[in-house]
Amino acid sequence: MLKLYNTLTRRKEEFQPVGKVVTMYSCGPTVYNYAHIGNLRTYVFMDLVRRTLKYDGYKIKGVMNITDVGHLLSDADEGEDKMEVAAKKLKKSPYEIAAYYTDVFFKDIAALNIGKPEIIAKATDHIDDMIKYVQALYDKGYAYETSDGIYFDISKFKDYGKLSRLNLEDQIAGARVEVNSEKRHPADFALWKKAPKEHIMQWPSPWGMGYPGWHIECSAMSRKYLGPLIDIHSGGVDHIPVHHENEIAQSEALEGHKTVNTWLHGEFMLVDGGKMSKSLGNTYTIAQLEEMGYHPLAFRYFCLNTHYRKKLNFTFEGLKAAETAYSRLLNQLYEHKISDKATAPEVIEKYRAEFGAAVDDDINIPLALGILWTMLKEPASKDIYALALDFDKVLGLSLDKAKPAEKEKIEVPEEVRQIAESRLAARKAKNWAESDRLRDQIAEMGYSIIDSKDGYTIEKK
Ligand code: AMP
Ligand code: ZN
Repeated sequence: MLKLYNTLTRRKEEFQPVGKVVTMYSCGPTVYNYAHIGNLRTYVFMDLVRRTLKYDGYKIKGVMNITDVGHLLSDADEGEDKMEVAAKKLKKSPYEIAAYYTDVFFKDIAALNIGKPEIIAKATDHIDDMIKYVQALYDKGYAYETSDGIYFDISKFKDYGKLSRLNLEDQIAGARVEVNSEKRHPADFALWKKAPKEHIMQWPSPWGMGYPGWHIECSAMSRKYLGPLIDIHSGGVDHIPVHHENEIAQSEALEGHKTVNTWLHGEFMLVDGGKMSKSLGNTYTIAQLEEMGYHPLAFRYFCLNTHYRKKLNFTFEGLKAAETAYSRLLNQLYEHKISDKATAPEVIEKYRAEFGAAVDDDINIPLALGILWTMLKEPASKDIYALALDFDKVLGLSLDKAKPAEKEKIEVPEEVRQIAESRLAARKAKNWAESDRLRDQIAEMGYSIIDSKDGYTIEKK
């Protein structure tokens, strides 16, 4: 039985989907720049959730948004639109910027074996749905107009703050909200922004030309594709206090009931123990890691080693260690791949059950990986290989690419080489006693000699 930790209730709960197909909404990227490895950890996490559900036999209808308008420099609705800032800087249109970074994003996630959700929803393709949503909230008395937009009135929504469990005063103190004097409450947030003339992305609305707020995008697209009550909503932990709190307020205000059963949040990735941010210059992209010689799946392995609800500290030593472990995993698996031996069915079933229990316990991938490692220590067998490939449906490590270890290039001391040459001469002279004596001498020096038709090779023992 799959158990998932629900941020809303702060408990692990047995997962019970509403209908036959699991509905899942995942907050997607804002496509104004490259995704960094922290962002990508969150999508690896989303992928592990999806893979676990599929492994357990569920069908999924997943939606991920592409935010190509409305995400302002501060999540609390202040500052310029991130897309417009990037467009100005690069002297391109926001649409060109969005198309470019969306394309790179999909290449990045493909390199990490992250499956694409069934529906990819671009915010700019859903402006009408958002306008209707805002209008409905306005008509129900949850929104009000100011000179620069339509705002959600959080005083009308009694449960505001239930996800983060922060009271409003804490939220205001923490958010450093620039006070917009026309807002009734500092934490009221924009549903729709009226666009100044120079704003490139703008659409007609009942409130004049403008563009949607970031939070409304997710509520409107989730509702459109997945309906008024969904099974799972996922995102990074930074979204809990503002973005998801606001989504809950909008959606529950509109529907009059809860709209998400399980809220899942992936913890952050840190770099050298601190915050990762573009301004600190410590963000890396998958392309940069590849340029440094790391395989993208070594990064995936690195992510899999830590439970999604724990912070993960990125260091190059850690990544290097993950890469070594990943290639050892492929090498050990190869011994099973080339075996024609079998393993007792009860042994296979034991590992299958252990792996299933680990992933079902709130997607405990580090434990599941440990079970795989233990299993690989069994005598080589084709059944172990087949089961490892089954586990890979969750792990996504391309285990079918198991390969033999590359022979270590060894430095053979000159002395050993000379003895080997003397031994070759003794063999040619059919002096077997001398040849054996020299072989033993080489062995004592820590090397072994492998004869072949045309000569020999030397290996470290
Ligand atoms: P954005 O493109 O800024 O909307 O962020 C995309 C996703 O990455 C969101 O789900 C964020 O919660 C997540 N995210 C941002 N920074 C990090 C980080 N350092 N570690 C993990 N996830 C992050
Ligand atoms: Zn969202």
